[in-house]
Amino acid sequence: MPDADSSPRFRSVLDQFVAYKPGKTVAGPDGRSFKLSSNESPHAPLPSVVAAITEAGRCVNLYPDNGAVALTEAIAGHFGVPPEHIAVGCGSVGITQQLLEAVGEPQAQVMYAWRSFEAYPLLVRLAAAEEIFVCNPNNPTGTAVHRSDLEAFLDLVPPSCLVVLDEAYREYVRDPDVPDGLDLYRDRPNVAVLRTFSKAYGLAGLRVGFMVAHRLVAEAIRKTMLPFTVNAVAQAAAVASLAAEPELLQRVEHVVQERTRVRADLLRGGWTIPPTEANFVWLPLGERALEFAAACDLAGVSVRPFAGDGVRVSIGSPEANDIFLAVAVPRGNGGMT
Ligand code: PMP
Repeated sequence: MPDADSSPRFRSVLDQFVAYKPGKTVAGPDGRSFKLSSNESPHAPLPSVVAAITEAGRCVNLYPDNGAVALTEAIAGHFGVPPEHIAVGCGSVGITQQLLEAVGEPQAQVMYAWRSFEAYPLLVRLAAAEEIFVCNPNNPTGTAVHRSDLEAFLDLVPPSCLVVLDEAYREYVRDPDVPDGLDLYRDRPNVAVLRTFSKAYGLAGLRVGFMVAHRLVAEAIRKTMLPFTVNAVAQAAAVASLAAEPELLQRVEHVVQERTRVRADLLRGGWTIPPTEANFVWLPLGERALEFAAACDLAGVSVRPFAGDGVRVSIGSPEANDIFLAVAVPRGNGGMT
């Protein structure tokens, strides 16, 4: 045991955090390897987006625009919201951290349903705050809250309590009863909507997300932003992606079609799984979660197990999905249920 004064001291909360473990590389018998563990887009960036990235790359000797003016205006125009209602950040997870820093005080509370996005407990423990997260559709289950339920809930929340609607997977929603947070926030000054360019827009590697909320909330969040947190390449790529939205949404439609195919195959194979409105499916395997993930690893697809609970599998290319399905629904024995 080292002497307490012999090394730098850190906040005790960090003892609850597990140190980062790099994901292992998996490979199937034929050497192929697919990643269905992080809900990424299976599509490479569009040529127009690559061109914007290349162009922005010529100026990286300069700091980015700290106000992200062009991107903010593009988001405002695209979604029909005032620019002063927008704050951008280093992914929507970066904005989540900014939100918690803006409202966090000792003894304050944060509420969210569980199981949900794993970053919530980590970020909340770093900065506790009076705030509520609603992840819709929910990660990792893919389930979504309907308009009537969400409105009834929002009506009960006091105006001093901020409600964050995390809509990282909004573009994959097809159920018309799932509300669009951008409609809900308009007459609710305590509602903030989080969106990201990481999923449907395929820019996970560039780290850019945004929040839409009333002016006072957006201002508070901009105050907690680390200077220059959204880099120039990310800003340019996000602007180009908004301009290319019809093409990107076609790709999203392909993912949704694959989601329908994958889920139908699982149901036919005897699985009982919840409906999903996101770009992944949830297999409630309980104690068999790790065992199932290990079987997928051997076939060359990495998936996301939650020990004792279930496995989340992202919808990837048809090829990757087929490999996963071959593990989940082995032909001939009716599948692993
Ligand atoms: N919210 C949810 C529900 C997510 O699943 C994710 C990514 N896994 C994020 C936010 C963060 O996305 P990003 O930081 O890449 O925008």
